[in-house]
Amino acid sequence: MQENKRDDIELLDGWFRALDGIGANGDGSFTRPGYTDTEDAMIGAVADLARERGFRHYADEAGNTFVHNGTGEGEYTLVASHLDSVIRGGKFDGVAGVLAGLFVLTKIGESVPVKVGIFRMEESSTFGVATVGSSLVTGRLNGEKLKSIRNNSGETLYGRITGRGHSASPQKIGGLKEYLELHIEQGRVLEAKKLPLGIVDSIAAPVRLWVTFTGRQDHSGATPMELRNDALAGAAVFITDVERFALSGSRHANVATVGVVKNSPNAFNVIPGEVALGVDIRGTDRESRNRVVRNIRRRAADIAGERSLACSVNEISKSDPVKLDAGLGKKLSDSAARLGIPHMTMPSGAGHDAMNFAGICPTGMLFVPCRDGISHNRHESAEIGNIVGGCHVLLEYLTHRKE
Ligand SMILES: [Zn+2]
Repeated sequence: MQENKRDDIELLDGWFRALDGIGANGDGSFTRPGYTDTEDAMIGAVADLARERGFRHYADEAGNTFVHNGTGEGEYTLVASHLDSVIRGGKFDGVAGVLAGLFVLTKIGESVPVKVGIFRMEESSTFGVATVGSSLVTGRLNGEKLKSIRNNSGETLYGRITGRGHSASPQKIGGLKEYLELHIEQGRVLEAKKLPLGIVDSIAAPVRLWVTFTGRQDHSGATPMELRNDALAGAAVFITDVERFALSGSRHANVATVGVVKNSPNAFNVIPGEVALGVDIRGTDRESRNRVVRNIRRRAADIAGERSLACSVNEISKSDPVKLDAGLGKKLSDSAARLGIPHMTMPSGAGHDAMNFAGICPTGMLFVPCRDGISHNRHESAEIGNIVGGCHVLLEYLTHRKE
């Protein structure tokens, strides 16, 4: 068993090393943006690994790639993730899931129809939209909408996709029996609990608000305290209340973050006249998360009233949390238990390709811990042994299910 595990680790480690040169910045970080030559090179390299093992592959109209056993026809289990990265991202985000798929395919032989999916542009770093490839083929993103989505240089996402020979209105994906994804946790929960595996039961989704407090811009020396309308002082109270509201609903994995503060005019000798705050609110239970949003909106208005400020709240995006298939989660958990792998059920705070499939077919997700919870960073690190453990849980589930 130990001997086998060493071989498995070597196999997977070799695959990671085969990709090490692509999009490498030389400091341990990787820049592999979606729908670029670098992402193409990643897909090409994984396709080479697949061909070496005798598997066939094809691309769909959106440029997503599928590696499969057998003929590739009929109903199949999709084990998928992505190969693109953020700017200066890590080695494991997405890649771990694709290589886990290839591992499952390698070990399972022809007995269970499996496809390994490589979805395009999962990261939102260049065009601000996440899970593009999987959203397009599941009908959750309309090709027309891509014409209005631009990067910093003004290029549209529609232009990028079609310019590289793909379609922005691809045929929908079919034939799915179920969807499985292994991913690094990108948080510290598993590490803190010293567990090698998490079974994901839900994926949180964000509501994003711009909250703007407007007061009066005055001289910081000549204006007495009782005559001020300091927008930043009001914003400061608001920020700590945002934290308090999220904490009160933390049972549903609610989190709320003020990640952007635009203070104007931002000078030593001027009382802040206007402050715009970017607020990101997430949770796995829609009702509970929406309650936090309502509390935050109400509190912003109250603070403005108490301090004679003007206040506006603009919702810039809203998506709903996704529940993964409870039955499938239970089976994955049973499979882990049979293999003696300690694990816990947990929510995902970050979005993943899996969330696009939850409405279409039974969808399950596994997390493996990453060191210090660091991701989207050159220090991102995961134990190959834990990834191998996750792969064996998928294998155990898929082969056991067939009996
Ligand atoms: Zn990812």
